[in-house]
Amino acid sequence: MIPFNRPILPERAADYMIEAFRSGKVSGDGTFSRRCEGYFQARYRAPRCLLTTSCTDALELAAILSGVGPGDEVILPSYTFVSTANAFALRGATLIFADSLPEHPNLDPAQVEALVTPRTRVIVPVHYAGVAVDMDPILALAEARGILVVEDAAQAIESTYKGRQLGLLGQLGAFSFHETKNIHCGEGGLIAIRDQAFAARAEVLREKGTNRSAFFRGEVDKYGWVDIGSSFLPSDILAAILWAQLENLETICRHRLGIWERYREGLAPLERSGHARLPLVPDFARHNGHAFYLVLPDEATRSRLIAHLKSRDILAVFHYQSLHRSRFFEDKHDGRVLPNSDRYSDCLVRLPLYHDLTPEEQDRVMASVLAFFGGGR
Ligand SMILES: *Cc1c(COP(=O)(O)O)cnc(C)c1O
Repeated sequence: MIPFNRPILPERAADYMIEAFRSGKVSGDGTFSRRCEGYFQARYRAPRCLLTTSCTDALELAAILSGVGPGDEVILPSYTFVSTANAFALRGATLIFADSLPEHPNLDPAQVEALVTPRTRVIVPVHYAGVAVDMDPILALAEARGILVVEDAAQAIESTYKGRQLGLLGQLGAFSFHETKNIHCGEGGLIAIRDQAFAARAEVLREKGTNRSAFFRGEVDKYGWVDIGSSFLPSDILAAILWAQLENLETICRHRLGIWERYREGLAPLERSGHARLPLVPDFARHNGHAFYLVLPDEATRSRLIAHLKSRDILAVFHYQSLHRSRFFEDKHDGRVLPNSDRYSDCLVRLPLYHDLTPEEQDRVMASVLAFFGGGR
């Protein structure tokens, strides 16, 4: 069986885990956590990067920092993971879903502009498959209107927009280290804080609303409850697993992109013959090979392709279901039809893509996909 995903497991990870365990400090903010945060702060030139227990939590932290509440509007794509929306729904904000571009699952900046009202407080671009949203129009709009930009960069480690790292274009960015992402620690995340004004409060929110971090730095002589907050600190054992991958981050991402490009080349006949669309990467984007997908003409073809691959022991999977049509949200949605988001919900399928996918396995996937389309011509 060729699975859809197999988490990368570097040899060193086990050694570092044991090292973290034996250090006697296995809770958060230990040696490996600091190393990981320092790495990102230096590499991404971010004033502050904080590890979190997940990207979901990084988004929740960002939502609290944004200060939104009932009556405030947040614009986000409908074609995204629930966590993007939940973070702001938990604050009681009104969610305004934007459609995807016709040619890409990413949200359409022109739609965002049309949806802005005097109540808009936050825009949340999601960089699908690690491919950048066209950020300049969004950043210009946000700046002109005093709107905060929180990037869901869950899939976008090492991906750039016009040479700039994703997740650091808006004031706040959230990354994921879930096992399905390019690098992971099982469950984990990171909040990147580009706007220094948020740094001190982020630290407090992450530490249950206490100034414990400042206390351990010797900045205050006792610590206590100073704000709302929650427990968003991952154990140092998880940071140790992550560190084993950060040591080789560039190699890991380059390798994955190589697999992605091999798919692009091998499956190009499908695009030429009109059987399927392959992922589009705009000129402004450099990506990390996070996901390779096909967009099929209709849902029935997708179901048949998934079944065909499964019969050959290959697991291909679809992705998001439009959030504006979800059971939780459909009666709260303002009624606008979002045809592109719905089309990606129905017609997009992702092929197996992970660090240890061998060329032989990949050849088998590609041959099986091409066979489904009668050789692809
Ligand atoms: C994976 C993912 C998340 C959630 O990440 P977790 O670390 O599992 O909480 C959020 N948004 C997007 C776009 C994702 O791909």
